[in-house]
Amino acid sequence: MQQSMPLGDAQATSSQHPLMGEQKDIRYYGSQARSLLNSPDSTGMPFWSINPYVGCAFGCAYCYARYAHRFVMERGALTADGIEGEAAEVLPPWLAFERRIFVKRNAADVLRRTLRDRGSAAGAVQRGETIVLGTATDPYQPAERLFRVTRGVLEVLAEAKGLKLVIITKSPLITRDLDLLVRIAQRSTLTVHLSLITLDRELARRIEPRAPTPESRLRALRRLSAAGIEAGVNIMPVLPGVTDRPDALAALVRRIAAEGASHVNPSPLRLRATARARYLPFLAAEFPHLVTRYADAYAHSHEMAPGYRDGLRRFMKQLCAEVGLQYGTPDERAFEPRAGTAWMVDDATPDPTPPPAVAQLELLTAS
Ligand code: SF4
Repeated sequence: MQQSMPLGDAQATSSQHPLMGEQKDIRYYGSQARSLLNSPDSTGMPFWSINPYVGCAFGCAYCYARYAHRFVMERGALTADGIEGEAAEVLPPWLAFERRIFVKRNAADVLRRTLRDRGSAAGAVQRGETIVLGTATDPYQPAERLFRVTRGVLEVLAEAKGLKLVIITKSPLITRDLDLLVRIAQRSTLTVHLSLITLDRELARRIEPRAPTPESRLRALRRLSAAGIEAGVNIMPVLPGVTDRPDALAALVRRIAAEGASHVNPSPLRLRATARARYLPFLAAEFPHLVTRYADAYAHSHEMAPGYRDGLRRFMKQLCAEVGLQYGTPDERAFEPRAGTAWMVDDATPDPTPPPAVAQLELLTAS
């Protein structure tokens, strides 16, 4: 992506959210975070989370994180075209998530203060409760080249010890920070989850239009593993009928193993309201032959039927066993969903039944 230098605050158009920079059709606005560590109670997720940005330029069609962006836009009295009252084109909320990115400029300072204050958040993470960096944004999206907020956060975390840190990203930019990652891994437990759902570059471009190519993510995986960082791959979401061909999944898992990953963490598509609102129109445009089948499959639930989920889990476990990869995240207990929530990890209990016939996986896959 072509880049421009950040704009100074002197060019700001709003004191609350100053315009900090532009990259082609993306605008960056400054944001002052009051806190950075989101508690499990506030998110419903079974871990602490940090998001250095609000919004994400990678623009994945299945992204569920768009809800967070809308909240900030409304709280900041912004319209989708930027600053309230500005004459400009109006972006629909789903597109504003990708093109109007909020940069938490004070993220490192806020985190450092939180950890020094020895409050409940500091105590929890210092006792080893998991922190996940990048649950509602990609911490290494293009903004990070300009603003280095994620790097600032990692510098603070590198000062601590005994933490359990997980980083989720699609970007090879994470290897820029190998020095910090190695330092963190020496003092704390660190796991990197690279997200990759297909080896097919053209298919990936349709689904994740501005995300780095599959090959570049695999190169990053190799570099992380070679540096001694525990790194695996989130195959999330597996898209029924689009990326769930058994031969494609098998090739993907074998390639991930060949690049030195420690684990594979797959999960089928979940379609809650926010993701549904963007993904279903995308499906109609790109894969119209699947529209009716999705309407049936997700008519009464945000999840695929148990038969599909079980079939996928068994198939992926079998693949992982064949190539010597751990199935699921290395720290399963830290990711166990709280009652009423479900996020990253599928059921990791042993399967009493034999692996299913491959045909079960082809529930939606077009022949
Ligand atoms: S990289 Fe993650 S946060 Fe960014 S658009 Fe894709 S799914 Fe959403």
